[in-house]
Amino acid sequence: MDIILGIDLGTTNSEVAVIRDGRPVVLPDDNGDPILPSVVGLDPQGKLLVGHAARNQFVLAPERTVRSIKRRMGEETTVALGGQNYTPQEISAIILRTLKQRAEKALGQPVRKAVITVPAFFNEGQRDATREAGELAGLEVVRIINEPTAAVLTYDPHPAEMERLLVYDLGGGTFDVSVAQVEDGVVEILASHGDTHLGGDDFDQRLLDFVCDRFLSQHGIDLRDSLAARSRVLRAVEDAKKTLSSDAIARIEEEFIAEKKGLPLHLNVEVERTDYEELIEPLLAKTLTCLDQSLSDARLQANQIDKVVLVGGATRTPLVHRLIQERLGRPVHAEVEPDLAVAMGAAVQAGLIAGVEVGPILVDITPHTLGISALGELHGLSSVHAFAPIIERNTPLPATRTEIFSTVADGQEGAEIRVFQGENADTRYNTLVGEFVIEGLADVSAGNQIVVRLDLDLSGILHVTATERLTGLARRVTIDNAMERFRAKQRTDAVDRLEAIFETDEAEGADEEEAPAIALENLDGLSPAQREAAGRASALIAKAERLLQAGANAEDAAELSALLTDLRAALERRSEDELRRIATEVEDLVFYLEDR
Ligand code: AMP
Repeated sequence: MDIILGIDLGTTNSEVAVIRDGRPVVLPDDNGDPILPSVVGLDPQGKLLVGHAARNQFVLAPERTVRSIKRRMGEETTVALGGQNYTPQEISAIILRTLKQRAEKALGQPVRKAVITVPAFFNEGQRDATREAGELAGLEVVRIINEPTAAVLTYDPHPAEMERLLVYDLGGGTFDVSVAQVEDGVVEILASHGDTHLGGDDFDQRLLDFVCDRFLSQHGIDLRDSLAARSRVLRAVEDAKKTLSSDAIARIEEEFIAEKKGLPLHLNVEVERTDYEELIEPLLAKTLTCLDQSLSDARLQANQIDKVVLVGGATRTPLVHRLIQERLGRPVHAEVEPDLAVAMGAAVQAGLIAGVEVGPILVDITPHTLGISALGELHGLSSVHAFAPIIERNTPLPATRTEIFSTVADGQEGAEIRVFQGENADTRYNTLVGEFVIEGLADVSAGNQIVVRLDLDLSGILHVTATERLTGLARRVTIDNAMERFRAKQRTDAVDRLEAIFETDEAEGADEEEAPAIALENLDGLSPAQREAAGRASALIAKAERLLQAGANAEDAAELSALLTDLRAALERRSEDELRRIATEVEDLVFYLEDR
């Protein structure tokens, strides 16, 4: 049977994939890199360079290098390369031929056919130019498909029922959002919107300005004025940007970046993720406007979307996940490497055309969110049980993430790190997977920063590191098989899970103040809202009981017992309204007791 390649011919990067054992796989180069930068150049001797080598020489030899040729596809134009003029199709053909050779080497046989992806907004002229580029590269283009269509196919070509998906594709230079419907291997794009000049490159530019402005105010030198300095900073900020997708802080260091009065100046800036997020938020707001527009064009409400699929390298940015999740009220799918999803989908389409059996992708992901308990707001009250997520669920493994936390007291000597797995904002409804204390912190005011790092590997082993940012003091623990533990826990019912957590609290002498005083029975089957109401009531009663023990009269004690009885009855009846009403009564009682 003929092998048909799936090719993502991207503006910034391109990839080639095939179906192996019923699953799409992206074929890497000799160094194991699946990504081929879409850059073509000639070296000083006139030798052809494609990919990383061409990209690396771009800054120094722009006249011998061509990039982003996809933006010119379909235009009656040529680009100059080393004294010769080439059409956009010819430059694209060089990229396609490189991918074809890579595939032939990996497969050990010649290939002649391909499915190539294009943006949904490409017109007929642009599609024809893409087909022509394929032919010039010696490939019969058996089908041109839309990039969002490919992304949808990657996730599941044959869902059990018709599914509606939203594909959010943020690459280096372009943004697209599409609403699609898939049923039985057939994808229909219901609506598409985008911005052909918005992407990760703009994030780099904002970070570059931030860094250069800082340097300018420190040294009175604008690094943007020198081409060489600017390109070094640009490269450094792109790396920092990627670091900030997993770490809470990134350091940008470039030695001898400038000179002042004969003395060398070094660039050394630390950027926190929160600062970076402030810089890019206005850009992401634009993408959300497009998202709303495409939903409205497809005549769908957010809750009618079954899956949100992320595509494009820039969607690795955690703020992207957070904003979409907030807007659509559902978790996003990023199981497939976002910059490989389109190529894999093209391979799925190729497999469907060739009549090969293709199943949904199988990727190891974190089934639940991992994070720690921290002081925060729960049900309008300040609580030490607030859940601070660090690795979000559906993150592909292995995964590493860091977040910054701060001490709450002046001269705080230690901090308890309690690691939980689950989705509830209240850690008492999640599963405790491990805990430890970092001691010997510097004697400083409240706000001493502790960087917490979680590393989760493919076998579910979790390394947790807490580091005092000021001194570098660190404590690290390993939690074996955090995920296994969770799966085992899943088999027990919710009551057992909660009681186990509460018992741990008591056994370890943890914060008595917030520990629930009543056993929350029969929570199994409660909705998240009901659980939340029950959790709120139980925390309040715990507080009330403590106040009563501190000296309450018989009347107050009797009122509390009655409330306990009512609460248990409300739990039995699974009545959310009653739970909320009783919680409000308890709140009043606590307020009254505290006030006396
Ligand atoms: P694509 O066009 O899909 O290959 O996306 C390329 C863009 O994704 C570039 O702007 C990259 O800098 C960006 N990118 C790649 N990896 C990451 C990452 N880990 N975090 C944030 N952006 C990334």
